[in-house]
Amino acid sequence: MTSAIGILGGGQLGRMLTLEAKRMGYRVVVLEPLTNSPAGQIADEQIVAAYADLRFIGELGARTDVVTYEFENIPLAAIEALEADRRLVRPSGGVLRITQERLLEKQFVRECGIATVDYAAVGTHGDLGDAIAEISLPGVLKTTMGGYDGKGQWLIRGAADADAAFGAAKGRPLIYEAFSPFDKELSIICARNAAGEVVTYPVAENEHDGGVLATTIVPARIAPAIADEVRRAAETIAAGLDIVGAFAIEFFLAGEHLLVNEIAPRVHNTGHYSLDAATISQYEMHVRAICDLPLVPPRMLVPAVVMVNILGGGSGDQLGGVNELLRDPDVSLHMYGKAHAALRRKMGHFTVLGSDADDALRKAELGRRKLHWIDNRAVSRA
Ligand code: AMP
Repeated sequence: MTSAIGILGGGQLGRMLTLEAKRMGYRVVVLEPLTNSPAGQIADEQIVAAYADLRFIGELGARTDVVTYEFENIPLAAIEALEADRRLVRPSGGVLRITQERLLEKQFVRECGIATVDYAAVGTHGDLGDAIAEISLPGVLKTTMGGYDGKGQWLIRGAADADAAFGAAKGRPLIYEAFSPFDKELSIICARNAAGEVVTYPVAENEHDGGVLATTIVPARIAPAIADEVRRAAETIAAGLDIVGAFAIEFFLAGEHLLVNEIAPRVHNTGHYSLDAATISQYEMHVRAICDLPLVPPRMLVPAVVMVNILGGGSGDQLGGVNELLRDPDVSLHMYGKAHAALRRKMGHFTVLGSDADDALRKAELGRRKLHWIDNRAVSRA
């Protein structure tokens, strides 16, 4: 029986996973290089070590019954070392290998019979010219590994952009993708256990700002046939990956045309709402999946919910307007315990329950306007 869970990564996803795992009675050990991390503040223990330090990775495996991860940019070698040591890692190294590399991931999605944007591998400046000639402009040049929140990617509208982006990439392996003029960005959270039980959450509709998720609306305002197609794609991908755990798939929707953008082999920002608006949160579902517990379909507790990310403003670390925000009985606030509100850093989020999407969106916009960052050093000087 599983009694202790190891988590690689100590960010907010790890924090919410830890809170749910502890509620369910598990011990949690987090491994993360930064002290006092959002997850480490909650976990029973935090091992402060680099993800590439195999000695401490081995210790995490030895101290827990199953190891999981809250982000995909960890060295594959760390997972492979644990598996070589006969430690249980969920999702497996095989899943991480595919989902942490954009080329392998897109190839896998296409092998599942699901569409992606057109793309080409780029190693040299010449490859980039060939890719642009073949796929055309505009496009997006991305590092094949390690990018998140729009980092490591460049919009290419012409030759000057291409030269600048290729230089900025500093020799890292790249992928050139056709720019998809989408109407909506969608995502779905799905979970699968080792017994092959698969559950999906309602399709989410996401709005980004500068590559960073700003707002999630659930359920997405799309035709039922599109929602069915998203759900079927998730089930196909879950089985194809043989994944154990909760994961997310992001899509572009252009007209009736659905394209997979990427797969995240972990709990996901667009599933935060499930803590407040579903019978089983994505975090509990992940714990159930990796600990061989039953997966049963989650039900929504309200007709609609909106999640708003609270991003750092770069000036001031104290969040103002909380009192006013919490006057709305349909709002719940989640803060991640991060000391510094660096510009666009994910500091927290709030969810708003609604009778329909318009109702939740209206209250979310009112809430968003109430929040602001206060420079507490300036306040204490005054
Ligand atoms: P990603 O890291 O691939 O999820 O990209 C971050 C965000 O950039 C996406 O959510 C989109 O808003 C935008 N984006 C990325 N790739 C493309 C693309 N090929 N076409 C249009 N927009 C894109």
